[in-house]
Amino acid sequence: MRHLKRRTKQQSENGTLAITPGPRLVPGTGSSVNVRGISRGMTRRESLAGAAVAATAWLTGSVHADQDQPAIPIIDCHTHFYDPSRPQGVPWPGKDDKSLYRTVLPDDFRKLANPLGIVGTVVVEASPWVEDNQWLLDLAARDPYVLGIVGHIDIAADTFSDHLNRFAKNPRYRGIRIGSGEITKGLKAGGKLIEHCRLLAEHDLELDVNGGPDTPQLVARLAALVPKLRIVINHIGNLPIDGKEPPQAWIEGMQNAAKHSNVFCKVSALVEQTQAKPAPDLLTYYAPVLNGLWKTFGEDRLIFGSNWPVSDRGASLETIVKIVREFFLAKGETAARKFFSENAKNAYRWER
Ligand SMILES: [Zn+2]
Repeated sequence: MRHLKRRTKQQSENGTLAITPGPRLVPGTGSSVNVRGISRGMTRRESLAGAAVAATAWLTGSVHADQDQPAIPIIDCHTHFYDPSRPQGVPWPGKDDKSLYRTVLPDDFRKLANPLGIVGTVVVEASPWVEDNQWLLDLAARDPYVLGIVGHIDIAADTFSDHLNRFAKNPRYRGIRIGSGEITKGLKAGGKLIEHCRLLAEHDLELDVNGGPDTPQLVARLAALVPKLRIVINHIGNLPIDGKEPPQAWIEGMQNAAKHSNVFCKVSALVEQTQAKPAPDLLTYYAPVLNGLWKTFGEDRLIFGSNWPVSDRGASLETIVKIVREFFLAKGETAARKFFSENAKNAYRWER
């Protein structure tokens, strides 16, 4: 979500694996390749084993693609799941949000994502309720498609360390997200931000930061103070995209942030930022911004995320994947693999 406005193979020979093939679109050709996905109804151990075998297959290239297009596994590192029908309801999205106010769970996402080659997701918590961290962890415990959780804990609160110590015991808990305004406040004298960021780093957890185009500059300041903390800028700093070269201030902010080796940038919410409606589906419209990010962060620190289901406001998941696949495949298969999963593994450090 754009949280700115919220003040918020097949069967294996031994039969132990249950992996289902699915077609995956290859951009520019309209053809499909077989990509393995994790099926429902498995035990967690079976599905984790299946995922591990599948992951190994991708790394060795043994998953064949038709034509000359490589099959590249995709981890979507920015999704939101929630269930308004649960007894306590949800703090977000609001009832008046006709497109988002519905039950959105991993199965709903998987139906769309698996055919596109998306083999797992990192979920970002959009609820400010502490117990919703546990709700997402419970979801992840039932479904290995959810590789990790980026939770929400008030980083300024005295209770921060208690909550963090509790959730960090779960290996699916990979970090938390804050708004850029919390950095602004926390950098002022007397704040607990730095202490709590160091605590995150001690737990080997990361920090996602969401905010406007000034976010990269704030992240640069924070990274200088807590260099061991891995920080992921969300939604390319929510930069409005208009098909033209991005503003110099945003570029300089990204350059300053990128000087710190533990800062990553999530190429997410791309289609929601477009000034043209509906969002253009051609790479050329996004290329000036993507080129700027590529020059700044290189092949090792850009991460894929959709922001589904909020991204539906801009374009379909298929369109989003098509745009970034075209851009990153043009940089080479290695770069594309890094963008679609390996860089994210370095940032979030999920276990499979
Ligand atoms: Zn979001």
